[in-house]
Amino acid sequence: TSSETSKKSGFKTVNPDDEKLLSSVRHGPPAIVDGVEGCIGNTPLFRIKSLSEETGCEILAKAEFLNGAGGSPKDRVALSMIETAEREGSLRPHSGDVIYEGTSGSTGISLATLARARGYLAHICMPSDQAMEKSDLLLKLGAVVDRVPPAPIVEQGNFVNRARNLARERTASSNNTPNKLSSTSGTQLTTTDPTTEPGAATGRGFFTDQFENAANYAAHFNGTGPEIYAQCGGKLDAFVAGAGTGGTISGVALFLKPRLPDIKIILADPQGSGLYNRVRYGVMFDIKEREGTRRRPQVDTIVEGIGINRQTANFEAGRELIDDAIRVTDAQAMAMARWLVEKDGIFMGSSSAVNCFAAVKTALKLGPGHCIVTVLTDTGARHLSKFWAMAGDVGGTTDTKLEDVLNA
Ligand code: PMP
Repeated sequence: TSSETSKKSGFKTVNPDDEKLLSSVRHGPPAIVDGVEGCIGNTPLFRIKSLSEETGCEILAKAEFLNGAGGSPKDRVALSMIETAEREGSLRPHSGDVIYEGTSGSTGISLATLARARGYLAHICMPSDQAMEKSDLLLKLGAVVDRVPPAPIVEQGNFVNRARNLARERTASSNNTPNKLSSTSGTQLTTTDPTTEPGAATGRGFFTDQFENAANYAAHFNGTGPEIYAQCGGKLDAFVAGAGTGGTISGVALFLKPRLPDIKIILADPQGSGLYNRVRYGVMFDIKEREGTRRRPQVDTIVEGIGINRQTANFEAGRELIDDAIRVTDAQAMAMARWLVEKDGIFMGSSSAVNCFAAVKTALKLGPGHCIVTVLTDTGARHLSKFWAMAGDVGGTTDTKLEDVLNA
């Protein structure tokens, strides 16, 4: 029975569904998996040795950059959104349907990868200030890439609105006949849509809508959360993560908090993001919005993928479970990124560095002996031209003090 199983494996189950959720984690993936989809999830949780030694806490990193399709936690989200849409009939495998998304890059890369695996095209709209590595990668995957000027969400030119509008237009003009994928798309950076060229896909458009789509946080509720819980043997004191859509922090918090009522859920927020205020004071609007313009400032940070100045369904889904927020400056994120390379050989992108910085702050606040889990989202290789260009080289340094990082 399920209670015997849980006794044997030592898991405290508070909910009959836990058995189902945790069983796949406990038994691990089968020896042979089916396609790239099978390489998603079940990521390692590893101790960051330097930070654990310095703080006297267990600082554990969920290695989400090891997700085997697009190399980030967005693999889980992309698969969840696509499978949900397929179940609902909004996407039809190998039909020439086109997936549209507005993304800082990671979700686009995961969607473009899975689109290839399932016979779709992907059309990705991203702000033009994101690292070129990500759009280059998207083009290699045969996605159509729109790099659009950064603009507030109230403007139609905003990357999210553009993706939504393009999906609508495609569906309206589609003759709904199954078609082959275009072989001409994705060969150049473009602001026009080569999928409308002769011979291109004529399927319907589908806007995955990662900011508002509940299948996003569901992926973390069903995967990331149970995995962390199982890997820690049901014992952890804090979970620390940044939020872009909010899917990660909400999904994990919604899973962990009912099972571990004392756990602290901490938002790691880059400079310029409004989520810090949203968590601490319940509001995120600035003076201009009070005046009714709703034109919030763009988040002014070199960190990519986290930090936002508007409310999203995925963040709001778990917001009340978040206990506190920690603000991290760009200088602190760069110092932490260099530290992780210098001390541990861990080469990460900007949002992972923000997460680790906030994890250390949380450890220092809780005191020695606590277990803190955070997320490593993507590798530094995706951030060479921007974040790492600014962070500089680690060189032969071996004697940086943690205090230098904290005071950066
Ligand atoms: N890190 C990176 C690099 C990302 O692209 C994102 C997603 N935008 C996140 C972290 C944040 O994840 P979430 O959307 O689940 O809040």
